[in-house]
Amino acid sequence: KFGLNLVHRKKDASAPAESAGTAVLEVRGLTVSFPQPGSGTVEVVQDVSLTLDPGEILGLVGESGSGKSVTAMSMLGLVAHPGRVEAQSITLDGREISGLSFDELRPIRGGEIGVVFQDALASLNPAYTVGDQVSEVLREHLGLDGAAARRKVIDLFTRVGIADPESRLGDYPHQFSGGMAQRVMIAMALACDPKVLVADEPTTALDVTVQEQILDLLVELRDSYGLSIVLITHDLGIVAEVADRVAVMYAGQLVEIGSVDDVFTRPAHPYTEGLLQSIP
Ligand code: ADP
Ligand code: MG
Repeated sequence: KFGLNLVHRKKDASAPAESAGTAVLEVRGLTVSFPQPGSGTVEVVQDVSLTLDPGEILGLVGESGSGKSVTAMSMLGLVAHPGRVEAQSITLDGREISGLSFDELRPIRGGEIGVVFQDALASLNPAYTVGDQVSEVLREHLGLDGAAARRKVIDLFTRVGIADPESRLGDYPHQFSGGMAQRVMIAMALACDPKVLVADEPTTALDVTVQEQILDLLVELRDSYGLSIVLITHDLGIVAEVADRVAVMYAGQLVEIGSVDDVFTRPAHPYTEGLLQSIP
């Protein structure tokens, strides 16, 4: 279905190439180890280094269990886990954030970073209306209440392509399709105008046509707001279609990173070569 279309929804090719040092996010030497059930620890992420440039979509690919989610969640403290996170440095917009605890990262999680997961419906609270859930984020992180919060939710819903947003504020999650629920999650992730969006398999649970719509939305958000996106997926077709650069993970290591065109046409690592050959 996707094919290896290397041009179609890329960032303007005539845009100036980013020079070193302008990355919105730079990770150096990230290692994550989890305690083993018996004894000792296992390093599920080993010495990963990557950069995310402003306004780019970086695809993070690799087979299931290769460490994509743990890498993304650990570098930004997006979810608490029992692992030990070490890094030489992690800079977000030039500010060093490595070594900060999960709690210390809370304001960053709430402000500069947005995150969406595979199962949007499971991420929403079934007991509250979507309007209330997004409002709660606005109240907690921006101190917005009442009419101002309502206006902002409507604005966010409009940005993510929810039709007739006013009429949907009072709806509960179960009244949304999977794709619409993912739009609600994206709206929530955008609530505090983040610089970086981490999307962890955001379309994996969706039908192909709905997948395309969500990918279109991510590209549009990048184009309109300069959002920088880490798009985690096991689907190389998606990367070929929307990503500017791609990072390939294998068994906890980042084996390759480069422009999609380079990596797909001249893979440097045998694992990447194998991955590409497995695409029908
Ligand atoms: P991917 O997202 O690429 O499918 P993950 O990053 O989720 O892979 O997982 C990488 C490895 O870390 C896997 O072997 C997984 O079992 C392990 N892992 C993930 N989360 C935990 C956890 N909370 N405790 C222990 N091991 C974990
Ligand atoms: Mg994962």
